[in-house]
Order: sequence, then C-alpha cells, then structure tokens
Amino acid sequence: MGIIEKMRLDGKNIFVTGGARGIGKSVATAFAEAGANVAIVDLDINEAKKTAMELEKNHSIKAIAIEADVTKPDDVNAMIATVLDVFGRLDVAFCNAGICMNIPAEEMTFEQWKKVIDINLTGVFLTAQAAGKVMIEQGGGSIINTASMSGHIVNVPQPQCSYNASKAGVIQLTKSLAVEWATKNVRVNCISPGYMGTELTLNSPSLKPLIEQWNKMAPLHRMGRPEELQSICVYLAGDTSSFTTGSDFVIDGAFTCI
Ligand code: NAD
Repeated sequence: MGIIEKMRLDGKNIFVTGGARGIGKSVATAFAEAGANVAIVDLDINEAKKTAMELEKNHSIKAIAIEADVTKPDDVNAMIATVLDVFGRLDVAFCNAGICMNIPAEEMTFEQWKKVIDINLTGVFLTAQAAGKVMIEQGGGSIINTASMSGHIVNVPQPQCSYNASKAGVIQLTKSLAVEWATKNVRVNCISPGYMGTELTLNSPSLKPLIEQWNKMAPLHRMGRPEELQSICVYLAGDTSSFTTGSDFVIDGAFTCI
C-alpha cells in the first residue's frame, strides 16, 4: 500500500468540537473526504446539522450532529455516549471549540476571564479526558487539540491575555496527556494556527480593523485559510503518525518567527 493510501481514514470514527463552522468544519470535511465517519459537536445545533448533512451528501460516510457545551461535563459525557452508540467506537477526537475576547487585562471581569478559560482550556481538558478514557479501554486512539500561535507569542496590538493564557495551557495539557497516555497507545498532539480567515476573526467587530495590520506584519502578507490546516489533521488522525505524540504543530506562515 502506498503512503497516500495508508494516510486514509476509512472506517475511523471521529468527533470534532466546534465542528459547525470555521476550522472545525474545514477539518471535519477533510476527515470525511479521507473516509471517516464524523460527529459534528457544537453549541450551535442548527449549523452543526447543516454541516453534518453536507458531509453525508458529499462523501460516502456517516455524519451526525450533537449539541453539547464543552464546558459541561454532563454534555461531554452524553456526547461521547451518543458517538459510541451510533458509531460503536471512537478512534479520533478533534478538541477544537474555542472563543476569543480582546479586553485589556485591567478591565476584564472575572466572568469574562472565566468564560475564555472554561471554553478554551477546561473544554479541551473535558473532551480530551472523556475521549482518552474510551480510547484507553479500546487500546488506542488519537487526540488532536486546537491551540494557537497565541500560546507561543503575545501577538499585538489586541489585548487578549485570557486567550493567550488558555492556548499556552492547551499546549502544556497536550504534552502532559501525551506522556501520561503514551504506553496506552493514545497519542495526543495539538495544532497552533496563526491568523486564519474564519468567522471568529472575519466577523468579530473588534478584530476587523486589525486584519489589515496583521497582514502587513505577516511574512506571507495574508491570513491562513482553514483548508491549510486539513492535511496536518488528517496526518495526525491516521496511522502513519504512530510515532508522533506530544507534538505541537505551528502553522502560521512564519508569523511566530518574526
Ligand atoms: P469559529 O468561531 O469560526 O468556530 C468556533 C465554533 O465553536 C462555533 O461553531 C461555536 O459555536 C463553537 N463553540 C463555541 N463555544 C463552544 C462550546 N462551549 N461548546 C461547543 N462548541 C462551542 O472559530 P474558528 O476560527 O474556527 O476557531 C476554532 C478554534 O481554532 C478555536 O479554538 C480558536 O481559538 C482556534 N484558532 C483560531 C484561529 C483563527 O485565526 N481563526 C487561530 C488560531 C487558533
């Protein structure tokens, strides 16, 4: 079998949090194209259903939509139960749901701080933990978390200390889980994207004026496209990445190099 064939995901069962739109939807589409069944997990069930229907229509796979808030343990456990009920097994988890708030540190309320940390860091922990438990019992699996280049650098000029802290946390969480679960055949990696053109960035009124400035600073003078994260995630989900665990893939068009 050639390397491209080996990278296919036929028969694998995957859940994608924040899968209704943006990076999650793009990566879920790549998983489906590679032959995997996909559960689209999101707070926004209407958009999640549309995405799941689109995947089933365009690819010969099974796709379902599940409403869940990744900050709520009961939602996460119910989501895993549904995935196992429908698919019978869980091979890959893409823990990707996240939000961003640009608020100066001295003005940030406790609730605003907590919301970002709860979704971006605790949400990744809860979904990765729940997936890991199933995978340990099954004898293996692959978990991919979405961090950010903001886990590496303090990107300017927008003030986003809660976002930066949450994403640095995701990177260390990823490495910690990778080490804890290494001998259990559960691999844990993360991606650290740079600025990507998605709803989170393009439709955020506070970010819009900054896009021109970022593009000027960026070595490639543009934002990334969600589809430019697809191949790394397909690689991490599949069996050819068997020696890749605890890694953080910075996909930022060299933004963190400047
Ligand atoms: P997006 O806003 O386009 O999509 C995020 C999705 O997550 C939405 O569908 C939303 O409903 C869902 N979501 C939010 N809170 C949730 C919760 N509590 N439970 C379940 N679902 C929830 O965002 P995106 O740009 O696709 O970002 C996806 C991930 O990538 C995030 O973790 C983000 O921090 C990260 N990221 C984005 C960029 C970028 O420039 N867009 C860069 C680096 C990292």
